[in-house]
Amino acid sequence: MEIITNPEAMHQWSRERFRSGKTIGLVPTMGFFHEGHLSLMRKAAEVCDLVVVSLFVNPTQFGPNEDLDRYPRNFERDMALAGQERVAAVFAPTPDLMYPDGFQTEVRVKELAHHLCGLSRPGHFTGVTTVVSKLFHIVQPDVAVFGEKDFQQLAIIRRMVKDLNIGITIIGHPIVREADGLAMSSRNANLDPAHRTAALSLSTALKLTRERVRSGIIDTTVLHRELEAHIHAHPVATIDYVSFVDCETLAAAATVNERTVLALAVKIDGKVRLIDNGFLLEPNAA
Ligand code: AMP
Repeated sequence: MEIITNPEAMHQWSRERFRSGKTIGLVPTMGFFHEGHLSLMRKAAEVCDLVVVSLFVNPTQFGPNEDLDRYPRNFERDMALAGQERVAAVFAPTPDLMYPDGFQTEVRVKELAHHLCGLSRPGHFTGVTTVVSKLFHIVQPDVAVFGEKDFQQLAIIRRMVKDLNIGITIIGHPIVREADGLAMSSRNANLDPAHRTAALSLSTALKLTRERVRSGIIDTTVLHRELEAHIHAHPVATIDYVSFVDCETLAAAATVNERTVLALAVKIDGKVRLIDNGFLLEPNAA
């Protein structure tokens, strides 16, 4: 497994592989790998000859009061984990290589960013789409794999790829969870063990809502009220949003149907912001 830090060198690497007829699958990450990241690497290995994993904690997608400094990092451990997968190269640039002096271009997806995380994290998705565009141009993959855990991000990237005629196939991969149901996240490392039950209120909220929907309650105002009570039963949990949205447009849904996704963002102890989501009706409900 090669470790490449320079964008030019990465581009060169990909061009050479392309010329020799190899297909490339890219897995963009911010590191501190867990099974969720590894499952994306395995998916990319299934569909492409070569897998490139990018590891870059992108400063432009963090707001001024967010957790950029506290974001968990462990490069050696990440390399050991990626080394056990079929990963051909890790692209791990530094911020100054990605954003040299004079950098001033942005890629922005408009409407889709005006929902969910985009409301509480202004500028976040512009940071994401700009860096993902750069990664696409640098690595030139045939396929890129993203987790459904970041459901809005996936919808926005699919839109960007369509709108800009980027010839890359986007694959969404299901959420990987801990045995107790907590969606895996690098940020879970920052959770105080005493707050684990509060963190679990996201996945139990999904479970509970699916049960309520199965019992015939599809009015999202009613479901919303129940969910608020369920999450706020934990004094350390504060809701950023509890939203019932259409899986593609992200528009709010008044009643649940098979396209409805429940998306949740909850802050634990004012510090660790967790997200989770899922479809509420079969066949998509996990
Ligand atoms: P991150 O390093 O958090 O930016 O995530 C990198 C990629 O891994 C994104 O496409 C995420 O959606 C995906 N990912 C993160 N957590 C999970 C998970 N628990 N299951 C599946 N994919 C995930």
